[in-house]
Amino acid sequence: MTVKAKKSLGQNFLIDRNVLSQIVDTVKIEGKAILEIGPGSGNLTSFIFKKNPQKIFVIEKDDDLALLLKEKFDNEINIINDDVLNIDANKICNEKLTVFGNLPYNISTEILSKWIIRLNNEFWFDSLVLMFQKEVADRIIAKTNTSNYGRLSILSNWKLNIKKIIDIKPESFSPKPKVDSSLLLFTPKDKFFKLKNPKNLEMITRVFFSQRRKMLKKPFNQVFKVPKKVSEKFNIDLNLRPQNLEPEVYFKLVKEFEESGS
Ligand code: SAM
Repeated sequence: MTVKAKKSLGQNFLIDRNVLSQIVDTVKIEGKAILEIGPGSGNLTSFIFKKNPQKIFVIEKDDDLALLLKEKFDNEINIINDDVLNIDANKICNEKLTVFGNLPYNISTEILSKWIIRLNNEFWFDSLVLMFQKEVADRIIAKTNTSNYGRLSILSNWKLNIKKIIDIKPESFSPKPKVDSSLLLFTPKDKFFKLKNPKNLEMITRVFFSQRRKMLKKPFNQVFKVPKKVSEKFNIDLNLRPQNLEPEVYFKLVKEFEESGS
Protein backbone atom coordinates (compact mmCIF):
# COMPACT_ATOMS: atom_id res chain seq x y z
CA MET A 1 0.00 0.00 0.00
CA THR A 2 1.49 3.37 -0.98
CA VAL A 3 0.22 6.63 0.46
CA LYS A 4 0.53 10.08 -1.08
CA ALA A 5 1.85 12.65 1.43
CA LYS A 6 -0.84 15.08 2.57
CA LYS A 7 0.44 18.62 2.96
CA SER A 8 -2.49 19.63 5.20
CA LEU A 9 -1.29 17.09 7.79
CA GLY A 10 2.33 18.24 7.61
CA GLN A 11 3.47 14.94 6.15
CA ASN A 12 7.23 14.98 5.55
CA PHE A 13 8.51 11.50 6.13
CA LEU A 14 11.99 10.92 7.52
CA ILE A 15 13.99 8.76 5.15
CA ASP A 16 17.58 9.36 6.31
CA ARG A 17 18.66 6.25 8.20
CA ASN A 18 21.52 8.07 9.96
CA VAL A 19 19.11 10.61 11.36
CA LEU A 20 16.60 7.92 12.34
CA SER A 21 19.40 6.11 14.21
CA GLN A 22 20.46 9.29 15.98
CA ILE A 23 16.88 9.95 17.11
CA VAL A 24 16.45 6.52 18.71
CA ASP A 25 19.89 6.79 20.34
CA THR A 26 18.85 9.96 22.19
CA VAL A 27 17.29 8.12 25.15
CA LYS A 28 16.98 4.56 26.44
CA ILE A 29 14.16 2.66 24.76
CA GLU A 30 14.70 -0.92 25.88
CA GLY A 31 11.98 -2.06 28.28
CA LYS A 32 10.22 1.33 28.16
CA ALA A 33 6.66 2.29 27.27
CA ILE A 34 6.89 4.46 24.17
CA LEU A 35 4.48 6.98 22.68
CA GLU A 36 5.05 8.21 19.15
CA ILE A 37 3.14 11.18 17.81
CA GLY A 38 2.43 11.19 14.06
CA PRO A 39 4.19 7.94 13.09
CA GLY A 40 3.25 8.44 9.44
CA SER A 41 4.33 5.43 7.42
CA GLY A 42 6.23 4.03 10.43
CA ASN A 43 9.85 4.83 9.51
CA LEU A 44 10.78 6.02 12.98
CA THR A 45 8.45 3.43 14.55
CA SER A 46 10.52 0.61 12.96
CA PHE A 47 13.73 2.04 14.42
CA ILE A 48 12.08 2.34 17.85
CA PHE A 49 10.74 -1.20 17.55
CA LYS A 50 14.23 -2.62 16.93
CA LYS A 51 15.38 -1.24 20.30
CA ASN A 52 13.07 -3.62 22.22
CA PRO A 53 10.65 -1.32 24.00
CA GLN A 54 8.15 -2.91 26.36
CA LYS A 55 5.27 -1.48 24.31
CA ILE A 56 4.58 1.20 21.71
CA PHE A 57 1.56 3.49 21.41
CA VAL A 58 1.22 5.68 18.34
CA ILE A 59 -1.23 8.51 17.66
CA GLU A 60 -1.88 9.07 13.95
CA LYS A 61 -4.69 11.27 12.63
CA ASP A 62 -4.56 10.10 9.02
CA ASP A 63 -6.94 7.13 8.50
CA ASP A 64 -4.97 5.82 5.49
CA LEU A 65 -1.71 5.84 7.43
CA ALA A 66 -3.33 4.24 10.48
CA LEU A 67 -4.43 1.41 8.16
CA LEU A 68 -0.97 1.14 6.65
CA LEU A 69 0.58 0.94 10.14
CA LYS A 70 -1.87 -1.80 11.05
CA GLU A 71 -0.72 -3.80 8.01
CA LYS A 72 2.95 -3.12 8.71
CA PHE A 73 3.05 -3.80 12.46
CA ASP A 74 -0.05 -5.91 12.99
CA ASN A 75 -0.68 -6.18 16.75
CA GLU A 76 2.87 -5.28 17.74
CA ILE A 77 1.94 -1.64 18.37
CA ASN A 78 -1.15 0.11 19.78
CA ILE A 79 -2.54 2.46 17.15
CA ILE A 80 -4.67 5.38 18.28
CA ASN A 81 -6.25 6.73 15.10
CA ASP A 82 -7.10 10.23 16.35
CA ASP A 83 -5.99 13.84 16.56
CA VAL A 84 -3.23 14.18 19.18
CA LEU A 85 -4.86 17.41 20.35
CA ASN A 86 -7.95 15.40 21.40
CA ILE A 87 -6.01 12.90 23.45
CA ASP A 88 -5.41 13.19 27.18
CA ALA A 89 -1.86 11.83 27.32
CA ASN A 90 -2.19 11.24 31.08
CA LYS A 91 -4.62 8.43 30.39
CA ILE A 92 -2.72 6.45 27.75
CA CYS A 93 -0.96 4.10 30.15
CA ASN A 94 0.03 3.70 33.79
CA GLU A 95 3.77 3.72 33.22
CA LYS A 96 5.74 6.86 32.44
CA LEU A 97 5.99 7.28 28.70
CA THR A 98 9.05 8.04 26.61
CA VAL A 99 7.73 10.20 23.81
CA PHE A 100 8.98 10.57 20.24
CA GLY A 101 7.55 12.77 17.54
CA ASN A 102 8.52 14.15 14.19
CA LEU A 103 5.70 16.60 14.74
CA PRO A 104 3.46 18.09 12.09
CA TYR A 105 4.93 21.60 12.00
CA ASN A 106 1.64 23.45 11.80
CA ILE A 107 0.59 22.24 15.26
CA SER A 108 3.94 21.54 16.97
CA THR A 109 3.88 24.56 19.30
CA GLU A 110 0.21 23.96 20.09
CA ILE A 111 0.99 20.37 21.15
CA LEU A 112 3.95 21.38 23.31
CA SER A 113 2.14 24.33 24.96
CA LYS A 114 -0.92 22.22 25.67
CA TRP A 115 1.15 19.48 27.29
CA ILE A 116 3.02 21.97 29.46
CA ILE A 117 -0.08 23.88 30.51
CA ARG A 118 -1.90 20.67 31.43
CA LEU A 119 1.00 19.10 33.36
CA ASN A 120 0.24 18.52 36.99
CA ASN A 121 2.92 17.71 39.53
CA GLU A 122 3.07 14.10 38.35
CA PHE A 123 4.76 14.04 34.97
CA TRP A 124 3.24 11.45 32.59
CA PHE A 125 6.52 11.19 30.65
CA ASP A 126 10.20 10.78 31.48
CA SER A 127 11.39 12.40 28.27
CA LEU A 128 10.13 14.01 25.09
CA VAL A 129 12.24 13.63 21.95
CA LEU A 130 10.60 16.01 19.54
CA MET A 131 11.40 17.44 16.14
CA PHE A 132 10.48 21.01 15.31
CA GLN A 133 11.02 23.42 12.49
CA LYS A 134 14.47 24.87 13.38
CA GLU A 135 13.13 28.38 13.71
CA VAL A 136 10.63 27.17 16.34
CA ALA A 137 13.29 25.11 18.16
CA ASP A 138 15.48 28.24 18.27
CA ARG A 139 12.66 30.10 20.01
CA ILE A 140 12.15 27.27 22.50
CA ILE A 141 15.82 27.20 23.56
CA ALA A 142 16.41 30.97 23.30
CA LYS A 143 18.13 32.75 26.16
CA THR A 144 17.10 36.03 27.78
CA ASN A 145 18.20 39.21 25.92
CA THR A 146 18.03 37.60 22.47
CA SER A 147 15.49 38.32 19.75
CA ASN A 148 14.23 34.72 19.72
CA TYR A 149 13.46 34.79 23.45
CA GLY A 150 9.76 34.94 24.22
CA ARG A 151 6.63 33.14 25.35
CA LEU A 152 7.67 29.73 24.07
CA SER A 153 11.09 29.89 25.77
CA ILE A 154 9.57 30.92 29.09
CA LEU A 155 6.77 28.36 29.02
CA SER A 156 9.08 25.50 27.99
CA ASN A 157 11.68 26.45 30.59
CA TRP A 158 9.13 26.44 33.36
CA LYS A 159 8.92 22.71 34.01
CA LEU A 160 11.36 21.21 31.53
CA ASN A 161 15.08 20.93 30.92
CA ILE A 162 15.75 21.33 27.21
CA LYS A 163 18.67 20.15 25.13
CA LYS A 164 19.26 20.43 21.40
CA ILE A 165 20.32 17.09 19.92
CA ILE A 166 20.82 17.75 16.19
CA ASP A 167 19.81 19.97 13.30
CA ILE A 168 18.35 18.15 10.31
CA LYS A 169 18.46 19.22 6.67
CA PRO A 170 15.42 19.11 4.34
CA GLU A 171 17.15 16.36 2.27
CA SER A 172 16.54 13.90 5.12
CA PHE A 173 12.79 13.97 4.42
CA SER A 174 10.43 13.03 1.64
CA PRO A 175 8.81 15.19 0.45
CA LYS A 176 11.50 17.76 1.26
CA PRO A 177 10.24 20.55 3.58
CA LYS A 178 11.28 24.14 2.78
CA VAL A 179 12.98 24.63 6.15
CA ASP A 180 15.60 23.04 8.41
CA SER A 181 14.52 21.06 11.45
CA SER A 182 15.94 20.50 14.94
CA LEU A 183 15.56 17.66 17.37
CA LEU A 184 15.09 18.64 21.02
CA LEU A 185 15.14 16.54 24.17
CA PHE A 186 12.91 17.66 27.06
CA THR A 187 13.13 16.14 30.54
CA PRO A 188 11.14 17.04 33.67
CA LYS A 189 12.72 19.49 36.10
CA ASP A 190 13.01 18.14 39.65
CA LYS A 191 12.01 21.52 41.02
CA PHE A 192 9.94 24.19 39.35
CA PHE A 193 8.14 27.36 40.35
CA LYS A 194 4.63 26.60 41.69
CA LEU A 195 1.82 28.57 40.05
CA LYS A 196 -1.90 28.32 40.77
CA ASN A 197 -2.96 28.43 37.16
CA PRO A 198 -0.53 28.04 34.23
CA LYS A 199 -3.00 29.95 32.07
CA ASN A 200 -1.90 33.08 33.94
CA LEU A 201 1.66 32.48 32.69
CA GLU A 202 0.27 32.20 29.18
CA MET A 203 -1.75 35.39 29.63
CA ILE A 204 1.04 37.49 31.15
CA THR A 205 3.65 36.42 28.59
CA ARG A 206 1.11 37.09 25.81
CA VAL A 207 0.51 40.65 27.06
CA PHE A 208 4.25 41.32 27.48
CA PHE A 209 5.49 39.82 24.22
CA SER A 210 2.70 41.07 21.96
CA GLN A 211 4.53 44.39 22.31
CA ARG A 212 8.08 43.18 22.63
CA ARG A 213 9.68 46.42 21.45
CA LYS A 214 7.81 48.53 23.98
CA MET A 215 9.21 49.34 27.41
CA LEU A 216 7.95 47.26 30.34
CA LYS A 217 5.90 50.23 31.61
CA LYS A 218 3.16 49.47 29.12
CA PRO A 219 2.46 45.78 29.89
CA PHE A 220 2.93 46.46 33.61
CA ASN A 221 0.16 49.05 33.44
CA GLN A 222 -2.06 46.59 31.62
CA VAL A 223 -1.54 43.67 33.98
CA PHE A 224 -1.14 45.17 37.44
CA LYS A 225 -3.42 47.54 39.33
CA VAL A 226 -0.47 49.14 41.14
CA PRO A 227 2.42 48.59 38.71
CA LYS A 228 4.93 50.70 40.62
CA LYS A 229 4.49 48.60 43.76
CA VAL A 230 5.16 45.37 41.83
CA SER A 231 8.17 46.73 39.92
CA GLU A 232 9.72 48.00 43.17
CA LYS A 233 9.07 44.75 44.98
CA PHE A 234 11.03 42.83 42.34
CA ASN A 235 13.48 45.58 41.57
CA ILE A 236 12.51 45.76 37.89
CA ASP A 237 13.47 48.75 35.76
CA LEU A 238 10.36 49.57 33.75
CA ASN A 239 12.44 51.12 31.00
CA LEU A 240 13.69 47.65 30.02
CA ARG A 241 11.96 45.48 27.36
CA PRO A 242 10.14 42.14 27.84
CA GLN A 243 13.10 40.18 26.44
CA ASN A 244 15.36 41.49 29.23
CA LEU A 245 13.54 39.62 32.02
CA GLU A 246 14.66 36.10 32.97
CA PRO A 247 12.00 33.32 32.99
CA GLU A 248 12.22 33.27 36.80
CA VAL A 249 11.11 36.90 36.94
CA TYR A 250 8.04 36.09 34.83
CA PHE A 251 7.15 33.24 37.20
CA LYS A 252 7.40 35.62 40.14
CA LEU A 253 5.24 38.19 38.37
CA VAL A 254 2.59 35.55 37.67
CA LYS A 255 2.62 34.48 41.32
CA GLU A 256 2.25 38.11 42.39
CA PHE A 257 -0.69 38.49 40.01
CA GLU A 258 -2.29 35.30 41.36
CA GLU A 259 -1.83 36.25 45.00
CA SER A 260 -2.81 39.87 44.93
CA GLY A 261 -5.31 39.68 42.10
CA SER A 262 -3.44 42.68 40.81
N1 SAM B 1 6.99 10.17 11.98
C1 SAM B 1 6.89 10.09 10.55
C2 SAM B 1 8.29 10.16 9.94
O1 SAM B 1 9.14 10.74 10.63
O2 SAM B 1 8.49 9.72 8.85
C3 SAM B 1 5.96 11.15 9.97
C4 SAM B 1 6.14 12.55 10.44
S1 SAM B 1 5.17 13.75 9.62
C5 SAM B 1 6.15 15.20 9.82
C6 SAM B 1 3.86 14.14 10.73
C7 SAM B 1 2.83 13.02 10.97
O3 SAM B 1 1.83 13.49 11.90
C8 SAM B 1 2.06 12.61 9.73
O4 SAM B 1 2.01 11.21 9.67
C9 SAM B 1 0.64 13.18 9.94
O5 SAM B 1 -0.37 12.43 9.31
C10 SAM B 1 0.53 13.14 11.44
N2 SAM B 1 -0.40 14.14 11.98
C11 SAM B 1 -0.67 15.38 11.49
N3 SAM B 1 -1.53 16.04 12.29
C12 SAM B 1 -1.79 15.19 13.32
C13 SAM B 1 -2.62 15.29 14.48
N4 SAM B 1 -3.32 16.39 14.72
N5 SAM B 1 -2.68 14.23 15.32
C14 SAM B 1 -1.94 13.11 15.08
N6 SAM B 1 -1.16 12.95 14.00
C15 SAM B 1 -1.08 13.98 13.13
